[in-house]
Formats: sequence, structure tokens, C-alpha cells
Amino acid sequence: MEDLILIRYGELSTKGKNRKFFINRLEGNIKKKLSKYSEIKIRSQRDRMYLSFSEYDANEILQQLKDVFGIQSFSLAKKVSNDYQEIENSIMKIIDFSKYESFKVITKRGNKNYFMTSDEVNRQVATRILKETNLKVKMKDYDLGINIDIRYDYAYIFFEKITGAQGYPVGVSGKGLLMLSGGIDSPVAGYLVMKRGVSIEAVHFASPPYTSAKAFDKIKQLALKYLPYTDQIVIHNVKFTQMQLEINKYVDENYSMTILRRMMYRICDALAKQRACDIIVNGESIAQVASQTLKSMAVINEVTNMPIIRPLACYDKLEIIELANKIDTYQTSILPYEDCCTIFLPPNPIINPHLDRVLENESRFDYQSLLADCLINIERIVITEKNQEEVLNIASDIF
Ligand code: ATP
Ligand code: MG
Repeated sequence: MEDLILIRYGELSTKGKNRKFFINRLEGNIKKKLSKYSEIKIRSQRDRMYLSFSEYDANEILQQLKDVFGIQSFSLAKKVSNDYQEIENSIMKIIDFSKYESFKVITKRGNKNYFMTSDEVNRQVATRILKETNLKVKMKDYDLGINIDIRYDYAYIFFEKITGAQGYPVGVSGKGLLMLSGGIDSPVAGYLVMKRGVSIEAVHFASPPYTSAKAFDKIKQLALKYLPYTDQIVIHNVKFTQMQLEINKYVDENYSMTILRRMMYRICDALAKQRACDIIVNGESIAQVASQTLKSMAVINEVTNMPIIRPLACYDKLEIIELANKIDTYQTSILPYEDCCTIFLPPNPIINPHLDRVLENESRFDYQSLLADCLINIERIVITEKNQEEVLNIASDIF
């Protein structure tokens, strides 16, 4: 009788021909996540995965699996031969019946040729338990669910189904460039796309000395919160001061936010292409601020053909905060350091910008060379499980 962990796939089981690709990626992600347990073995099948963990602590491993996207649910299970008598005897041996008052047997047959029906197995196992213990059968609200899964090769006995992180394995959907501000929204946006199988790199715009090194520390802290879901996170830190100063100098005050955002998008467009990202991701939410009205979004979006995914487009702030708490970014996000978007914030940013006026404003200064400077001077930081302490202590070059 062997202990193992049975892993059920999430939505990916509907993926037809791509299934193999999904399963391989999930297997790879689980191996990376559990890389410190060198003796772990994974056997992948069409509809589930079996993870043998030999001498390691099962609870520790179960805990780690909770954050792997692409897993629907998982269970600690006993693997036994599919000989009926062995199944029954194993159940009698492994359960401490003194801990429970009621039970239900739930049999599933992956092996439809098995010589007993599921119902016959349920009844026969239950009869033995009723005979040898004081437990009662209950169809609902039972203390102990005994699950028996009879497959062609083996049978598996398990008691609890732990809900997985669901979604798709990170990486199967391609790569996104996440615009990561220190606010509440963008860290949540990054989490939501990762859950759909998108791996991410982050880009942050900093304007030293108007924004401080502390503000960038916050970005690193936020990026760390993604490590449960991915083995590494790259942050591209863009020095944006000169661009902001020139916008402030040349552009009509009420258009400065619109143009600032267009410059950000232009940099993201170029960087995303350099880094082989398929999409740009940000924390914009319809109507949250002047730059996020539909009219503003259209004018800002006009500088790029890249798909921009806004996972929070239709979320209310309270819903976003709930998610931020769930992924533990909220407390970091509310630390009070200024973002580059707020330092020269005009009192009345336009909510209905006109493209011809935007273009006229942009023609007043040589933004192309400023964009080129921003792109050349990007500082790149890679955070992994291993180097995280070190990275937090290294001062950024651009402040
Ligand atoms: P958040 O939206 O994350 O709470 P915020 O509200 O300060 O931060 P907004 O002004 O709503 O930011 O900006 C909308 C989106 O633009 C952010 O969610 C983020 O994706 C992106 N963004 C804003 N500022 C920056 C920045 N300094 N660096 C990178 N991306 C940024
Ligand atoms: Mg916001």
C-alpha cells in the first residue's frame, strides 16, 4: 500500500488536442514548485496525475500544491491493487474508526469492466464496517467520506478533496507584460492573468527623485507575492523623470495625464516586443479615474496594436480590495509612497480627450528621443525564491 497524492486537472481537461501540452506544463510547474524535494516522482495520465513523495512530509507538500494553477483538486490517497478483498482490507486497516460516528462509502469506477458495480462495492464495504465498528451510515452530513476509485491498474482510497488553485498552468497561455504600480489594482490584475495561464514580467515607471527608492522597494515586495505561483519574476524599472518633466513643460495641463499614459503605453509596446510578450496587462478599471473613461482609454490605447488585457475592467474597488487581501498584496499596496502618475497630477485631467489635440500637444516636444532613452536605461531585476532576501537589500541604480 503506497501513499501518494492524486491531482485532478482543472479546466484544462476540456482542451482537446492541447491537453498534452497543458499536462506537460502543469507537471513542469509542479516539479519546479517542489524542486527542493528531489525524490518526488510524478506520473501523468489523461485525467489526473499521481505524485509519489516517498519519505517527505505529506502535509508540507499538500500545502505547496495549493498555489499551483491548473489543479482542480487534490487528495492524499492510498494506492492498492484493484483486487476487491485488498481494497476492503486496506480500508479496515488504515482508518481509525474511533474518531468518527458516521460514514459514507463513495465508489467510482474508471474501470467499467470491473466485476462489481460501484453500488455493490459501496454496500459490501459498508456492511463490513457496520459489522466491525460502531459507526452508522449517513447519506448526508457524514463525518467520514470513504472514496474508492477503481481504475484499470490500481485502486485509490482517499478521504478528503482539497480544492486547488484552479485556472490554467502558468505559461500555457503565453506571456504578458504587467504594468505594476504600487497601487492596489495592478498586483491583483497580475494575479488574475497568471491564473489564466499567462506568465508575466513586470514593468514599473519610476520618477526619481520625485518618487523614492522606498516606492520601488514596495514594487519588489509586491512582486515577491507572486512567487507562490511562479518560479521567477522579472521587473523592468523604467526611469521616467525626464519624460514627465518635459510633458509638464510642453503639454496643456489638462492633457498631461492622457499623454503621460500614451508614453507609458509606447514604452510597454516596445518592451513587450523585446521580451517576447504577447499582451500588455494593467490594473485599469472602467471609469475609476479620468484616464480610465472609455473615451480616454480609446485615445491612450491608440499608440499600440498590442492586445491590452485589463482583468479588472469591470470590478468595483471593494471587489478588488477583497482579492488584494486574498493574495496578500493589500497591506503592501496601501503603504504611502508616491507613484509617478500622481506627482504632477493636474487638478482637472480631461475625461474626454480628442485625438487631434493630443497629437498637436505631442508635436511640441521630441518625445521619440525621450522614449529611446527610457528604453536604453531600463534596470532589470529578477526575483526568485532563492535570491529574494538579497534582492530586497540591493539598492536600485536609478535612484
Ligand atoms: P493601481 O491601479 O494599481 O491601484 P493606481 O490606481 O495608482 O494603482 P492608476 O492611476 O489607476 O494606478 O493606473 C492604472 C494602471 O496603470 C495601474 O493599475 C497600473 O497597471 C498602471 N500604472 C500606473 N502607474 C504605474 C507605474 N508607475 N508603473 C507601472 N504601471 C503603472
Ligand atoms: Mg487604479
